[in-house]
Amino acid sequence: MGIYENFKEVVSIVQKLDNIELYRKILDLQGEAQRLMSETLRKDDEIRQLHARIDELEEVVRFKAKLVEINGFYFELDQSGIPNGHPFCPKCWEVNRTPVHIHQMGHLLQERTKSVCPNCKSTFKFVAQRKPQST
Ligand SMILES: [Zn+2]
Repeated sequence: MGIYENFKEVVSIVQKLDNIELYRKILDLQGEAQRLMSETLRKDDEIRQLHARIDELEEVVRFKAKLVEINGFYFELDQSGIPNGHPFCPKCWEVNRTPVHIHQMGHLLQERTKSVCPNCKSTFKFVAQRKPQST
């Protein structure tokens, strides 16, 4: 039997005793119990949110360990510890810890002069991707 059912049973017994003062005290306790249950639910939700935030931050820490900064841009290290692939937007990473690859602007046959972040729309002087080194 849960706390709510137990409480209903106590209220029923107290009503039969016909003691107004006792009945008021029981109702006060009922209100307090409901307030505590609401507070517990709110705290449980807060704990769930904090655990989710901890998971996010742990993922950022893991990802950060795989990055290297070269000339102001961040590259992911491959399994050999070598920077590889397209650079990440320094603004998105440094401000929001959001890894967003920046992309070259223009057609492949045209001169490549700029790179752009698809998230924050920052533009940069063209930054070439890093290719894996052959062994
Ligand atoms: Zn960006």
